[in-house]
Amino acid sequence: MQLDFQKMPDGLIPAVVQDAATGQVLMLGYVNSEAWEKTRTEGRVTFFSRSKNRLWTKGETSGNFLSVVSLHPDCDNDALLIRALPDGPTCHRGTTSCFEHAGEQARPVPPVGFLAELERLVQRRYQHPQEDPNSYTASLFRKGMPKIAQKVGEEAVETVIDAVAGNTAGLPGEAADLLYHLLVLLTASGLTLDDVVAILRQRHATISAGTRRE
Ligand code: AMP
Ligand code: ZN
Ligand code: ZN
Ligand code: ZN
Repeated sequence: MQLDFQKMPDGLIPAVVQDAATGQVLMLGYVNSEAWEKTRTEGRVTFFSRSKNRLWTKGETSGNFLSVVSLHPDCDNDALLIRALPDGPTCHRGTTSCFEHAGEQARPVPPVGFLAELERLVQRRYQHPQEDPNSYTASLFRKGMPKIAQKVGEEAVETVIDAVAGNTAGLPGEAADLLYHLLVLLTASGLTLDDVVAILRQRHATISAGTRRE
């Protein structure tokens, strides 16, 4: 994997950072060959800052580092896509992404990516149940199993009832309850959406390879 630094007059290649879980575009920076080397060896995103005129590891003062998941040069090696997991808000203004503004109605997150965002919040409640005293999620974790499993069962039944009755007005809400409680159940079981999606992907690959399954 290489980048064509010679091609750029200033030796800087633009790098888009994307949240590896939610798909949200977090920020744009520039890398020179040193920043690229440091990013690859340390697994944390380092840019060349044009305003500071030096290497800049994102998070060096805020603590909000970007842990590299994968690196993707473009077709002709003069642009870079970085998939990373952020330790906290990426923008210095405190928003998740630099391409996001406080109070904005349509946040630029792909719809399905929001599930990963929600999962992140659920995991946070699991790890710090006291952080928000009014948190329903934290109260579910305090009750634990089998109460959480029972909630998933109830929401599954409510979803099924609305589907069978043709209640398309009620169905999305019940399906939402089901997905949310399933996230809580997975988290309480030490599992993630990734674990589930990996299995779906594996099955998909098997089916694409021509094997039929029930
Ligand atoms: P940090 O790298 O998060 O420790 O932030 C250090 C400094 O870098 C901040 O005070 C800002 O000046 C700048 N900075 C941090 N994050 C960004 C960003 N996403 N885009 C542009 N500048 C940033
Ligand atoms: Zn290109
Ligand atoms: Zn910003
Ligand atoms: Zn319900």
